[in-house]
Amino acid sequence: MRTVTILGATGSVGTSTLDLVERAPDRFRVKALTANCDVAKLAAAAIRTRAELAVVADATCLAELERALAGTGIAAAGGARAVCDAAALGADVTMGAIVGCAGLASTMAAIECGGTVILANKEPLVSAGDLVTAAARAHGATILPADSEHNAIFQCFDFARPERVRRIVLTASGGPFRDASLDEMARVTREQAVAHPNWSMGAKISVDSATMMNKGLELIEAARLFPVPADRIEIVVHRQSVIHSMVDYVDGSVLAQLGPSDMRVPIAHCLAWPDRMATPMEPLDLVAIGRLDFEAPDPVRFRALALARSAVEEGGARPAILNAANEVAVAAFLAGRIGFLEIAAIVDDTMQRYDPAAPETLDAVLAIDAEARRLAGERVEDGVA
Ligand code: NAD
Ligand code: MG
Repeated sequence: MRTVTILGATGSVGTSTLDLVERAPDRFRVKALTANCDVAKLAAAAIRTRAELAVVADATCLAELERALAGTGIAAAGGARAVCDAAALGADVTMGAIVGCAGLASTMAAIECGGTVILANKEPLVSAGDLVTAAARAHGATILPADSEHNAIFQCFDFARPERVRRIVLTASGGPFRDASLDEMARVTREQAVAHPNWSMGAKISVDSATMMNKGLELIEAARLFPVPADRIEIVVHRQSVIHSMVDYVDGSVLAQLGPSDMRVPIAHCLAWPDRMATPMEPLDLVAIGRLDFEAPDPVRFRALALARSAVEEGGARPAILNAANEVAVAAFLAGRIGFLEIAAIVDDTMQRYDPAAPETLDAVLAIDAEARRLAGERVEDGVA
């Protein structure tokens, strides 16, 4: 029996995690569930799973949460600090499924407890990757990647002989605009951008997939998680999203992990690791899929890829600036304030205008994150040239 805490339990990954946990009551017991402010969904999940604690990050929603949980015996708490306290409860397994760098502090709090931390939340790894992985080593925590590509690599990677790995091949669906012209991309709407062809996900990562910044963030994430430098991590567009990524060895063998485009597969792998657990997934029907296509990503239409590659190669504060500017630009696009192609332009502009020294502490990362957000926000107001 494993105890589980889910940070970001009401989102897309959080809901998939709950689905698996609720299907296996003999294996998992829920300790804490957190959300930003979706009280109805959070309270319902806490009651169903008989959680010990439910937390809203937005403290203004706490009174409503307390009313929803009255008489259930489930404790309620509110505020960013309370989310970190929930992460620090020391569940056997903590799922980090908050969106954005907002998940950084709670991820670190979970890691400092030394248990198993499943990370879907990729932005903290991008912004503060070295600090996150160093904390895991220092506290004996195990980080398991739930992002489907990194989970695939994790399953194929020979950690005992990393020097025998020649290359990592990250696959990308290419998103909804993989066949669109630049003119068409300039006019896309919020609705078109969040409608991913293969995956059902939260709004922010859906837009990231459409700009391919998601693959850029994943390149940085892979370089943090696996002992392979970014110049040996290649990105290939594979529109069917059947192969979730590959590891290429010096002898010419290439190991791949295949599966349906459903996050419950990599999440189940992490929840049960090193064991396996059953999921409701049908066996992969390769005959129905018929073919697997591969192509090189287009660097002209998807500027985010080159921005992310330069950020990881330059290192230091660059990935944190890239991520912060992107979070601001995506939020502005989702709010209808900027056009789709302006997202990458704002990231590029922010990276050109801001070049601080490498951060050595979490507070330094947060200060860089805040300043990059301020600069990107200026460009949202003024427009990019
Ligand atoms: P989502 O928007 O559906 O859910 C986000 C969750 O975080 C919600 O529970 C929300 O209440 C909570 N949240 C939002 N802002 C918060 C804040 N400031 N403080 C505390 N909690 C907050 O997002 P998602 O699609 O589930 O993605 C979550 C993370 O997983 C992201 O980092 C994303 O990149 C990553 N990821 C998602 C998928 C996917 O299929 N959705 C796949 C791979 C990786
Ligand atoms: Mg992914």
